[in-house]
Amino acid sequence: MDKEQSIHSMTDKMAKFIAHVGKKLPDDVEAKLLELRQKETGKLAATIYDTMFLNQKLASDLNRPCCQDTGVLQFWVKCGVNFPLIGELEGLLKDAVVQATFSAPLRHNSVETFDEYNTGKNVGKGTPTVFWDIIPDRDDVEIYTYMAGGGCTLPGKAMVLMPGAGYEGITKFVMDVMTSYGLNACPPLLVGVGVATSVETAALLSKKALMRPIGSHNENERAAKMEKLLEDGINKIGLGPQGMSGNYSVMGVHIENTARHPSTIGVAVNTGCWSHRRGHIIFDKDLNYTITSHTGVTL
Ligand code: SF4
Repeated sequence: MDKEQSIHSMTDKMAKFIAHVGKKLPDDVEAKLLELRQKETGKLAATIYDTMFLNQKLASDLNRPCCQDTGVLQFWVKCGVNFPLIGELEGLLKDAVVQATFSAPLRHNSVETFDEYNTGKNVGKGTPTVFWDIIPDRDDVEIYTYMAGGGCTLPGKAMVLMPGAGYEGITKFVMDVMTSYGLNACPPLLVGVGVATSVETAALLSKKALMRPIGSHNENERAAKMEKLLEDGINKIGLGPQGMSGNYSVMGVHIENTARHPSTIGVAVNTGCWSHRRGHIIFDKDLNYTITSHTGVTL
């Protein structure tokens, strides 16, 4: 394949992958929803879960997005410096979003700020968003694809705490967000928490935390313990599926952190909803692909 053919091929595969992510939840989310369904004792909660599973089946049978809000596309790319299309990646992802907008289809979710018109193609100034991690000595690319819906994005919040606020301050911040805005995303939620120095570093970590598989833990055992404590605490709010009450409010709490300035605690929260549409695909240098988030997919 020459370069033009390679770009075309990868754009086409990414468009098909985006469309698939919009229709089928990743394996770990499906498994967690099934687990929570079995653990809920109330009739209403069980009925709502059953409706969610029916919704998923109909999306597959009818070949339609599983939620009407297909979000703003966000990509977190972990790109090897020697990946052959590194220079073309951002452009081809944008083209893939346009292609998927019409083929999937996706709802038109890109409004030019200040000019206030919808581009009708899900692309605009800075959308889709691409977060880059450049990896030395690698020639492949990992692409996390995420559909940031309106409801699941609304609870997002970041601030810098005084250092004396400590881990109790982080806990209060997260619980305040969950008890005030948690309902804006359709529960059960996946809660991403970033802890770092400043608002932007914490915020980016809180989004990356949502890319982690459900059931994974922070590698630091104290942070992992805090994940569990927060999960138990948010469950006790009793949001239940779709916020209609139940024993479980969350699919999990993921904390991502860096070292930080001793005088600040930057903290941020991002939420994913029950329709947590994220996908993970890896392209090698010859553009052979491997999908780790969804089994049995051929693009
Ligand atoms: S919060 Fe999630 S499930 Fe609810 S409408 Fe938004 S994208 Fe859809």
